Amino acid sequence: MANELIFKNASELAGLLKSGEVSSVELTQAHIDRIESVGEAVHSFLHTSPASALATAREIDQRRSSGEKLHDLAGLPIAVKDNLTTLDAPTTAGSKMLEGWIPPYDATVVKRLRDAGMPILGKTNLDEFAMGSSTEFSAYGPSKNPWDLTRIPGGSGGGSSSVVASFQAPLALGSDTGGSIRFPASVTGTVGIKPTYGAVSRYGLIALASSLDQVGPVSRSVLDSAMLQDLIAGHDPHDSTSLPESLGSMTEAALKGSVKGMRIGVIRELNGEGFQAGVKQRFNESLEMLSKAGAEIVEVSCPSFEYSIAAYYLILPAEASSNLAKFDSVRFGLRVAPEGNPTIERVMAATREAGFGPEVKRRIILGTYALSSGAFDNFYGAAQKVRTLIQRDFDAAFAKADVLVSPCAPTTAFKLGEKISDPLAMYLNDIATIPANLAGVPGISVPIGLAPEDGLPVGIQFMAPARADARLYQVGAALEQLNEAAWGKRMMEFAPDLEAK
Ligand code: GLN
Repeated sequence: MANELIFKNASELAGLLKSGEVSSVELTQAHIDRIESVGEAVHSFLHTSPASALATAREIDQRRSSGEKLHDLAGLPIAVKDNLTTLDAPTTAGSKMLEGWIPPYDATVVKRLRDAGMPILGKTNLDEFAMGSSTEFSAYGPSKNPWDLTRIPGGSGGGSSSVVASFQAPLALGSDTGGSIRFPASVTGTVGIKPTYGAVSRYGLIALASSLDQVGPVSRSVLDSAMLQDLIAGHDPHDSTSLPESLGSMTEAALKGSVKGMRIGVIRELNGEGFQAGVKQRFNESLEMLSKAGAEIVEVSCPSFEYSIAAYYLILPAEASSNLAKFDSVRFGLRVAPEGNPTIERVMAATREAGFGPEVKRRIILGTYALSSGAFDNFYGAAQKVRTLIQRDFDAAFAKADVLVSPCAPTTAFKLGEKISDPLAMYLNDIATIPANLAGVPGISVPIGLAPEDGLPVGIQFMAPARADARLYQVGAALEQLNEAAWGKRMMEFAPDLEAK
């Protein structure tokens, strides 16, 4: 029998810790026990650190009992995506290239978790270097969807989504370059946010595409993610793209949770063709609920969104091919001896051949080609122009609406193996999430129930203008309340009991 504590939301647990009703050691141990009983089946973690998590928990309990004023999240355990550097644990980015690599520094977001006194339970699985939508491109095997272990938990952050959805951690950190926080949240019934570009430091995030990457929270409620964003956001002198100003309190926005008078723009281009029937049905029901709660539903058009996947798969590989050039057998991780004379070029080639998986190689080749002198203007240059058009679409849409809305993903969780040999089918999962990365605006995925045809979670996506992340928490929390009132329980209470299985 699982300890009932693990089924509570992070914000409730924070309250119990604060009042002294629960100790951090008890709470951390309950999660370690859960990892022991379901961890293998879900395969969310690439590395766990129970001893150091318990050491943090003990220290926090002591400081609390001596009357010290602690952070609201102090003592609350958390899991961290394995592309964020950690001084005391290996960081692999899901790649053989970095197997066993222990970084010489903590990512800024990890340091902020430590400074707040949050025990770190371990590092979560991801597609290699965060390239993918299912975790099937992880060099260490896929994670599973806790709602149905034969299905994908989304990607690239399927470790973080499945860890939270299977109650192995109340909170997790993810990274989102084209949807890797929001898509996994959508298919696991959890909440995930990609903050405004620059709102959260990227220092210590192993870069995929630097102009698109953002770190963000994963949780089981909107308020929980708000509290986590408030902790990790804020200027960082180590990241030159970090915003200098504060975006205000996300926690306050989530607690406000109202949509009265808010203009919600339905994106015409993301509301029809190619979306699963049950996804559309739940989406339309949500719009109705929001409208009844006092929101004004308007339609907006973003004609250039049609080209977002094409532009993304030029910009991302171009940046990735450059970022991954540093894995050269000399500076980090793996070194493989070539056959014959070991010249530097041959060592490098043998190492990159052995260390990178098929999707990473595909993108390095694509990106190198897109940046080559003959192709540059036609491909990379054209993609950058499309990026500008997408940004203009957002500007025009936000003149008519305070937030935009679409289903987060075209379908519910698909079967493991279903799309692995069809890259284009895999890329299409991100049709609704990629525009936000190209424009740098924030997006949230909030669960809106189960699709009638397969009983699997559906997510809705809200997007706001850059720096207006608070609006996402406000509207997200409002819709979450409306749904919970309609269902009579929380989303995750519908999930199957993994320990009974
Ligand atoms: N699925 C997208 C890709 O493969 C998004 C990845 C991400 O956000 N890290 O690139």
